[in-house]
Amino acid sequence: MSQTPGAQRDQDALDLWQDLVKQIRFHQQNYYELDAPLVSDAEYDGLMRRLQALEAVHPELRREDSPTAQIGGAPTGDFAPVPHAVPMMSLDNVFSPEELSAWMDKTARDIGGGEPAAVEWLAELKIDGLAVSLTYEDGVLTGAATRGDGRTGEDVTANALTIGAIPRRLQTDRPPAVVDVRGEVFMLVADFQALNRRMEEERLKDEAEALAAGRTPPKKRYTFANPRNAAAGSLRQKDPTVTAARPLSMLVHGIGRLEWPDGAPGPVPTTQSGVYDLLGGWGLPISRHNRVVQGQAGVDQMVAYYGEHRHDVEHEIDGVVVKVNQFAAQRALGATSRAPRWAIAYKYPPEEVTTKLLDIRVDVGRTGRVTPYGVMEPVKVAGSTVAFATLHNAGEVARKGVKIGDTVILRKAGDVIPEIVGPVVELRDGSERDFVMPAACPSCGTALAPAKEGDADLRCPNTRYCLGQVTDRVTYLGSRAALDIERLGEEGAKALVNPQATRPPDLPPETPRAGETLVGVLADEAGLFALTEADLMRVETWVKVRHKVDGVEVEHHELRPYFANLPKKDEPPALSKTGLELLAQLEAAKTRPLWRVLVALSIRHVGPTAARALAQTFGSLDAMAEASEEALAQVDGVGPVIAASIKEWFAVDWHQAIVAGWRAAGVRLAEDRTDQLPQTLAGLTVVVTGTLEGYTREGAKEAIAARGGKAAGSVSKNTDYVVVGPGAGSKEAKARELGRPILDEAQFTALLERGPAALG
Ligand code: NAD
Repeated sequence: MSQTPGAQRDQDALDLWQDLVKQIRFHQQNYYELDAPLVSDAEYDGLMRRLQALEAVHPELRREDSPTAQIGGAPTGDFAPVPHAVPMMSLDNVFSPEELSAWMDKTARDIGGGEPAAVEWLAELKIDGLAVSLTYEDGVLTGAATRGDGRTGEDVTANALTIGAIPRRLQTDRPPAVVDVRGEVFMLVADFQALNRRMEEERLKDEAEALAAGRTPPKKRYTFANPRNAAAGSLRQKDPTVTAARPLSMLVHGIGRLEWPDGAPGPVPTTQSGVYDLLGGWGLPISRHNRVVQGQAGVDQMVAYYGEHRHDVEHEIDGVVVKVNQFAAQRALGATSRAPRWAIAYKYPPEEVTTKLLDIRVDVGRTGRVTPYGVMEPVKVAGSTVAFATLHNAGEVARKGVKIGDTVILRKAGDVIPEIVGPVVELRDGSERDFVMPAACPSCGTALAPAKEGDADLRCPNTRYCLGQVTDRVTYLGSRAALDIERLGEEGAKALVNPQATRPPDLPPETPRAGETLVGVLADEAGLFALTEADLMRVETWVKVRHKVDGVEVEHHELRPYFANLPKKDEPPALSKTGLELLAQLEAAKTRPLWRVLVALSIRHVGPTAARALAQTFGSLDAMAEASEEALAQVDGVGPVIAASIKEWFAVDWHQAIVAGWRAAGVRLAEDRTDQLPQTLAGLTVVVTGTLEGYTREGAKEAIAARGGKAAGSVSKNTDYVVVGPGAGSKEAKARELGRPILDEAQFTALLERGPAALG
């Protein structure tokens, strides 16, 4: 007998429920027990959300043992079980500011019995580590346990004793009889990076030893994918000496039991922040980022601030935890079986996701270096969609162990360039293939070779004619770091140097004017400033155009002028706005400061810092070309490697032709001493941190350099001044620690104008 439609729907829902639960349990086991997740947290959260949504529509599916009603993973048999006297809870999540605000509204109303109550909120960073409970009896640490399933954790006391941040004894003469301190064990980002570097060295050593002895290298895991896995893997070690060698930290974020000795009652805090004051007073580590705020605006500000400055924090965070501060209100709200109703975790967009690595291709860059890059199924990470990520060189591909077809972990931290962290080896099905570094340049076909023996990078030696390299050099010389010619972006440079590169590879031969050989109007940088209107008029590139044929929209590729308008009937052809702007910008670029010209020449190792020093010392390109290698090497910030590279550069005839071409076109190749600013900062080192209203980051650096000062990136005892704007983080703290003078923006302006005397 066939089922009724209603029964069928119920069966489908049950099937889906079972499927989701199975997947979630599988991932929980990998994450909590093996410290080796197979999917990103965002994907896991997605599965959980689907399960929650399903149970909301089908309440009959809710069960006590559903993952939505339970906490974390079950304790493993690897450690002795420890029951928690007060359960350790998880947190409910929200993923958007709107959801957060709805939760705060509802919570305030629940406290007020329908009317919104005045709530004091505590906003904290959500530390990405693992929860522990520390038990102190009569002030002495007697136990440490992981969260486990919330009721029973794992005994990690021996390991916790090796963590420097965890005091063995509370700093008080009148300790409570017993207190359970709840907190997060984690690894500082800097410590994590150092640990991974150390592990990588160990891997190389083991590999070399194994090779020398004719053995296969050990297959064990060396490096960790992220600080959270590193912390979990380090704390949950059977051998505490391994934990001791790992740099773990801890911060407190809650409390379980608090019992005072009979006849000697001590303080019982009435707020969560009061707990932190009490525990902090006993020497327990409390986060300096916690904020008590009134109302939504304060919470929003914290969420927005750390959304922007997530990477200025010394440890990884995955969100902000918002808690009701008053205990009376916390008690009134209570908890579900897995999380308190008085707290919520607002999670930031994920910075780590998994995706499929479809291919590994190679590209040739400005210096001839040929770099492999991954082509991935496009995926949203840290707020933008990513489809490509550099893999640096063949050695890096091997080191990361990625194969074409792998599922890979992709990471993009804030504004940082996307990075393929590594493969999820467990998800391989045998169809993956190894990447083979090509032997020839992908742009010009020349055989690749390392610049010198032992170099990890392969280079295309056809420096002068390789169109890929010339295009990249022209793009670079137009960039903000060099001559700042906006219209010479990647596309503009390609149109001038290598328009053929715009031809779609799958273009059928019958397409209009197909087969035509496109030749760039610019052979190399020498002719750049001599480009004429007529040259630009000739430039054509392939573009995708859409039009309608019999009412149906079709798409094809067509050659179009790049710097000129499409010719119109009865009108003479003319340059487009882009073309006119390029000519004007080239003209303006001829009188840029000498250091920018130097950077634009793409001399190896000569970046803005060395170029500024060289321009200041020698005053002209000719003086620099004539200077001895020793004289060049003596310039502050130059040294022997850069000096040799400069000498080599000037010795090449076609490089000399670039200089001659630019000189003939009227490019100024000397400092314009007439507009030099007073050297108010000569010999001084200044660090700028945070945002300034009147200066961009680059602008502030230029202003310092133009007045003879050195703009440094980090604070040390040699720093003369630290300029601090809103949002300054660790650098300000460092400046205070080292007692370096701190200036605000107004004082900075005065310093630039009149030097240290201006500060009185
Ligand atoms: P959770 O990590 O989202 O939040 C609860 C935990 O946050 C607490 O137990 C506590 O340890 C921690 N925390 C950090 N800072 C805190 C603060 N200031 N105040 C209070 N608590 C703070 O929840 P969960 O149940 O521990 O784990 C679920 C999460 O773990 C998922 O959302 C996912 O990110 C991750 N996970 C990933 C996988 C995977 O396969 N990738 C599998 C399971 C879980």
